[in-house]
Amino acid sequence: MAPAASTLPSLAAELDGGADVGLNPETLVRRAKQRRQILDMTGVSYVIDGLLLLIYAYIGTIPISIPLAFTACGLVSVSVYIALSESNINDRFRDHYFVVQQSSVSLLILLGFAYLAPQVGFMFLCTLFIVYGFSSLRSTPRQTALAWTMAAIGVAALFLATHKPISLPVATPIERFATMLVFITILGRCMFIGIFSSSLRASLYRSGQQLREAYRRIEELAELDELTGSFNRRCIMKLLDDEIARAQRNGNPCSVALIDLDWFKHINDTFGHPTGDEVLRTFAITVFANIRAVDKFGRYGGEEFLLILPDSTDAAAERSLDRLRAIVAELDWSAFSPGMTVTISAGVAMLKPGETPDAILARADSALYAAKEGGRNRVARA
Ligand code: GH3
Ligand code: MG
Ligand code: MG
Repeated sequence: MAPAASTLPSLAAELDGGADVGLNPETLVRRAKQRRQILDMTGVSYVIDGLLLLIYAYIGTIPISIPLAFTACGLVSVSVYIALSESNINDRFRDHYFVVQQSSVSLLILLGFAYLAPQVGFMFLCTLFIVYGFSSLRSTPRQTALAWTMAAIGVAALFLATHKPISLPVATPIERFATMLVFITILGRCMFIGIFSSSLRASLYRSGQQLREAYRRIEELAELDELTGSFNRRCIMKLLDDEIARAQRNGNPCSVALIDLDWFKHINDTFGHPTGDEVLRTFAITVFANIRAVDKFGRYGGEEFLLILPDSTDAAAERSLDRLRAIVAELDWSAFSPGMTVTISAGVAMLKPGETPDAILARADSALYAAKEGGRNRVARA
């Protein structure tokens, strides 16, 4: 139970988009690592742009101060976010990636440089695709709408409130070459975002699968008896309530059988408690192999089991139980320990109109007692 339970909160938090409640240290470290990865990629992107701008500066399209200042601005902003991330301040916020804040800073830098160096303005505007493509991967629709509105206002201000000749330099062969490089690298980075997004989706899918598996395991553990794999007492009693209610409603017959292993204390004493456990397990497997899919089998307590047989009269139930009794008695138990034999006794009762679960169980128990009194290895009907 422990692994499933400890996996759940972290997975739930991941799927929840990372709310800051109850995250274990492991999850916090993983989140910090993911943030660092994204910030490193942002830094690399600024350096690529800086190098491309250096080509334009080299051929005199823009002053040398532009690539230097642009790269510096980009790297300073990335460094600030890395420092925040490393000090784990981000974990206090629901959006621990600071998506809106980071994309806004990038927007400011890009539009600022488009204003300062309109000769290569197209490059800064195209880089917006990378910024928003990337940020929308981690954004809510509301954050995306907010980011888009800010970008739209910024771009409108640049185009309408200034007369800057935003250009795409293609006058000389080297300018054409540099511009081609800009497009190719931006295209590459956009495609990289696509790959990143599909790996993100794949990891979310895996997390969902693990979560489903963990829930399934918890449900199973809550229903099953650990030793025998049959329903535990809580669950078989609930199933008894359900089956009785259904039979009362539909007027169909329903029978129950209390099954008890004979002289089990003696088996434990003679062959040891672990062998006793193996006997219980083997008995349960034998029952599962010989009952109908609609029958419900659970551990009532110790070496006593409850079998619910819906749509069965007591005569039919008695026949089934007697067949089961014979199968158990004829099993080669000496494989466990030489000289071992195992038998069972059972008490069968059929539901009477208006009867409660407690009342039918009491009758089945009396029948079981009669079977024991009658010499064991037998089935008695209430
Ligand atoms: P009877 O034929 O009258 O039913 O005799 P019995 O010895 O089976 O009855 P009793 O109720 O005296 O003993 C039941 C024994 O079952 C006692 C208990 O130690 C043993 N037992 C209960 N649960 C387990 C279990 O999970 N594993 C093992 N190995 N033994 C168990
Ligand atoms: Mg017994
Ligand atoms: Mg008993």
